[in-house]
Formats: sequence, C-alpha cells, structure tokens
Amino acid sequence: MTKLYVLGSGSRGNCCAVETEGMALLIDAGFSAREVERRAEAAGLAIDRIAGIALTHEHGDHACGAARLANRLSVPVITAPGTWSRLAPMMGGASHRPIGLCAQAEIGPFMVHACPTSHDAAEPVAIVVRTGNGTSVGVAYDLGRPTAAVRFLLQNLSAIVLEANHDEVQLRTSGYPPVVQQRIAGSGGHLSNRAAAALLAEVHHPGLSVVVLAHLSRLCNTAADARAAVAPALRRAGFGGELHVAEQDEPLGPIEVCAVLGPQLELAL
Ligand SMILES: [Zn+2]
Ligand SMILES: [Zn+2]
Repeated sequence: MTKLYVLGSGSRGNCCAVETEGMALLIDAGFSAREVERRAEAAGLAIDRIAGIALTHEHGDHACGAARLANRLSVPVITAPGTWSRLAPMMGGASHRPIGLCAQAEIGPFMVHACPTSHDAAEPVAIVVRTGNGTSVGVAYDLGRPTAAVRFLLQNLSAIVLEANHDEVQLRTSGYPPVVQQRIAGSGGHLSNRAAAALLAEVHHPGLSVVVLAHLSRLCNTAADARAAVAPALRRAGFGGELHVAEQDEPLGPIEVCAVLGPQLELAL
C-alpha cells in the first residue's frame, strides 16, 4: 500500500511524503527540521523510515529544513544539479543524487523522476515518485506555466499534488504592487486556480485516484475557491477520486493511493 502525506503547503513551507513498503521519501523540506519531525509525528509518518529527501528547488519554502534533516537522518538529497550547486555550501556532509530529464534516482522502493519547470530558481523541477507496487505520485508547485514537459510528466499518475496558487481576480485586487502581481502571474511565478483546473483536466485518466491542491496563496486564494475552480473541471473529465486541499498549518493524510490500474481492474485480472 502507498500513502501520501502532505505535511503542509503554502508560501511559508512545503513538505510532503510518499510511504510504501515501510519506507518513505520526503518531497521538499520547507519547514525547519524540528517542524517537519513534529508534523510527521502528528500525521503518523515514522521519521526514521525516511530514505531520502527530494527537492523541487532551492527556495526556502521548499528546502530550508533539508540540510539538517538529511544530516540527522543520514539520507541523500535528490535534486537537479543546478539546485544542488546553490544548496551544497549549506549541506554539510549530505550526499547528493542528481535528477532531471536524463537522470532518475532509485532510493529504496522509490524511483524518482523529474522534469524542468518554469520558475525563478536555479533549476526547478516537478517530481514524480514511482513505487514498486505500481503507484505513482506527482508533485508540481511553483509553476509559472505548465510547460509541455510538466504536462507530459504528470500523465498516467495515481496521485497528483498540484499548485493552485491564486484566484486571478483576487490577485488583481490583492493590494500587491503591480510588479509583484506580474511576478506571481508571470511565467516564472505561480499557477492560478484556473490554470491548475485546465492542467488537471488535461492529464486526467481513469487511474487518477487522488488530487491535492497545494501552495495556496493566503492573500489571493481560499480552499473553497480553489476547490470550486478545480472540482467541476475534474468532474467533467470523469474524475471519481478524492480531491483534497492542502493546508499551510496542519498536515493532511495519510491518503491512500491506489495503483494506476485501479482496484476493480486489478480484481478482474
Ligand atoms: Zn519557489
Ligand atoms: Zn514555493
């Protein structure tokens, strides 16, 4: 069985984990090591089962706890080379495993795939974790726009954690200076609810059983607005799974993730 934990998501920290066969892989560590441990314990995720820490990019809300956690747990950090080159001076003795379009990393029962994203960081990536039991979880946030590579990476997955950062009208009326609004809405910024809905409708397939909306802006979005934008699009695409909205301050999960075939088909086979 594969479980997904979303320990928190938003501009003040992002961290989730995929657990299978008694081991777990952390995806982003955007809280202090102590806070990641506290949230893991609250959600029922055994911190000593973490086999590695995959990072989407070096921004503090995704990576600030990675060095301490990697060293404390003696586990590798899995990032794109450009991300590692920014983080390496702070990483102490932590080891690095590269990922990217041409590099996958095998960590215990997990195979970690990645592709570049459009965001204002050194070498940001979206990540897909595949497990030995046929489940696959994609994590994509801090997306200025959904590139062809991201749209391809997110196909045929069991579960997707996707940024639904802002409502476009709320962003325009937020009081943010125009330059900040442009950065958030621009191709190096963050995905709107509407763009998230379109991307999810595009990559939807019958095996998609879990969708988690993540990295919501506190000023320019609400869980209800994100859900209202995405749920109808998913429903029209035929989605019959679970739709969750991640919270900044409280962990979500564990959420059970089914293999892509789906339980009925597996039984029929
Ligand atoms: Zn970022
Ligand atoms: Zn972020």
